[in-house]
Amino acid sequence: MKYDVITIGGGPSGAYASYLLAKEGFKVMLLDKGNPGGKVCTGIISEEIFQTFSLCRKSILKDISSIQFIAPSGISFTYEHPTPFAYAVDRKAFDSALLKMAQEAGASFLSQATVTSAEVSKDGVKLGYEKNGQFAASAQAMVLATGLNRKFLSSVGLKPPDSMQAAQIEIDNYQGEDQVKVFLGNNIAPGSFAWMVPIGNGMARIGMSTQRQLRPHFSRFMRTLGISNGHLEVRSRPVPYGMAPRTYAKRTLVIGDAAGQAKTTTGGGIYYGLLGAKMAVQTLKEAFSKGDLSEQYLQVYEKKWKERLTPEIEMGLRLRELFSTFTDERINTLINFSRNDGIATLIRLQAKFDWHRTFILSLLKILGIKWSGV
Ligand SMILES: Cc1cc2nc3c(=O)[nH]c(=O)nc-3n(C[C@H](O)[C@H](O)[C@H](O)COP(=O)(O)OP(=O)(O)OC[C@H]3O[C@@H](n4cnc5c(N)ncnc54)[C@H](O)[C@@H]3O)c2cc1C
Repeated sequence: MKYDVITIGGGPSGAYASYLLAKEGFKVMLLDKGNPGGKVCTGIISEEIFQTFSLCRKSILKDISSIQFIAPSGISFTYEHPTPFAYAVDRKAFDSALLKMAQEAGASFLSQATVTSAEVSKDGVKLGYEKNGQFAASAQAMVLATGLNRKFLSSVGLKPPDSMQAAQIEIDNYQGEDQVKVFLGNNIAPGSFAWMVPIGNGMARIGMSTQRQLRPHFSRFMRTLGISNGHLEVRSRPVPYGMAPRTYAKRTLVIGDAAGQAKTTTGGGIYYGLLGAKMAVQTLKEAFSKGDLSEQYLQVYEKKWKERLTPEIEMGLRLRELFSTFTDERINTLINFSRNDGIATLIRLQAKFDWHRTFILSLLKILGIKWSGV
């Protein structure tokens, strides 16, 4: 059976793109090598996601309306918002809900189906996949939503984005404060941060991202929290660190983590991945109606999403470069300074959970940090 579009990868980006395509009347097949959800992820997403993409809220485990930033000295600054600005979700339930939307709109979904080859010709796309045996499927176009599957992306001639590692454990005997905490410091997570997110019922997600020596830093961090990881599974996964150089090819669009559609400040990729999915579907819709799935036509997609997200993604990269030069004393001073009322007001007025550029520029100005940045 020939499909209009085959999506490879049933994470949030691939599932959402398949949903939008199916809703537009395209014949869609969605393949994922695993089962829905189960990915290591803190699952913190904004209020804006639910509103922008009209998503079901059933996966929400916990409202988040405050964050405590802890300096290396132990001094901290807590930002409290009048209403929840984000939520911790059950990633399995979140992904499953998106897959259900795609299927209800008419997309065919196959789990545990690993795409092993993809060939593009002048007539269409031909995929080989493995699901208790080897199968083939063909379509007019494909959407690659494989996350950071370097091997697969390289096999189809596309360069994946740069990445950094992030690790997390989930504990079920958490008895600390009901407060999201972000830990800063060069002995904790050089150039980056660690986090603790209580999600209710004695559960908490404790994680860290950093570009070097993640495992030793994470083990040390857990020891400082008094957590022994002997019986706990520490799971890690790469998160994008910048945009992929090219996210289109003949009959092909790349979305989500695979394209580098993630916030470089935090590594969070769900929101930008959904945004990328939406823009990809818009381009495909136009390309199908013009009967033009050429590389030249599809590059419109990359132009559009990069125009929208480059300022944010580049700002995050520059900020991280700057932050990685900070000594612990400087971080202590900054957190101490943040405790004055002006900063909380600035956050309330300017900070947006998924859009950081404007706030970062204002914050640096208030903190008196001279920076060429972007
Ligand atoms: C520790 C950690 C914490 C995080 N916390 C947050 C957070 O709080 N908020 C946030 O927004 N983001 C967070 N992220 C990032 C977030 O998880 C990703 O940005 C998001 O999952 C990207 O979605 P995606 O659909 O692009 O890719 P993925 O969710 O990675 O999905 C890709 C899918 O493709 C499938 N696949 C790959 N190759 C093939 C193949 N050859 N054939 C078939 N299927 C294939 C995979 O099985 C997978 O299901 C975190 C990441 C980590 C590592």
